[in-house]
Amino acid sequence: MAAPTPETLAAFEAAKGFMPVREGLALYEAAAEAASLGLPLLEVGTYCGRSTLLLADAARAGAVTAITVDHHRGSEEQQPGWEYHDPTVVDPEVGVMDTLPTFRRTLHRAGLEDHVIAIVGRSPQVASAWGGPLGLVFIDGGHTDAHASGDYEGWAPHLADGGLLLIHDVFPDPADGGQAPYRVYLRALASGAFTEVSATDSLRVLRRTGTGI
Ligand code: SAH
Ligand code: MG
Repeated sequence: MAAPTPETLAAFEAAKGFMPVREGLALYEAAAEAASLGLPLLEVGTYCGRSTLLLADAARAGAVTAITVDHHRGSEEQQPGWEYHDPTVVDPEVGVMDTLPTFRRTLHRAGLEDHVIAIVGRSPQVASAWGGPLGLVFIDGGHTDAHASGDYEGWAPHLADGGLLLIHDVFPDPADGGQAPYRVYLRALASGAFTEVSATDSLRVLRRTGTGI
């Protein structure tokens, strides 16, 4: 089973963010496989770079590039006063969240900067300007229906045949969490364009095996 280097794993475990270790290892394995297509690996939802470290390590091993997209202003539930707010990632000058500096430090310390292109922007807007095929799309951005379905509609069509679609925070039971990523997962399966590869906790891995996204 493909695994990150011990250095990357240590950096991942130390990084701020929302990716548990078990799911991170499954993310790495999928990324290592997808890298064999020779195409970029794309993530929506950089935050402070925790999951990006794993994509970067897999990209390095497979001689491809990891691309990570985020406006770096945080999701709804990360804003001041909400459950997942972290006051250390607020820019004191302008008084809004800015996770970009933390992300850059994380990537730099792990020695993985050369393997990542970070795009600062809104996912659907970046997707609409995007032109090339992708080997992997990892959806881990906003958790409202509008954001999650926008990520799917914007990025899934760019997946190459045989490429992998990963969706994080899929909770079939509403008691475990929000339903938007789960609905995107069901929609991807219902499209007939994807076949399920694996499920690890809340991480789903699907392979693009058809058209009609
Ligand atoms: N993958 C990260 C966690 C991502 S948290 C980890 O491993 O820790 C979700 C991120 O998605 C936040 O940083 C937020 O700013 C970003 N986000 C939410 N909606 C977005 C959108 N429409 N476009 C770009 N980024 C978005
Ligand atoms: Mg997540």
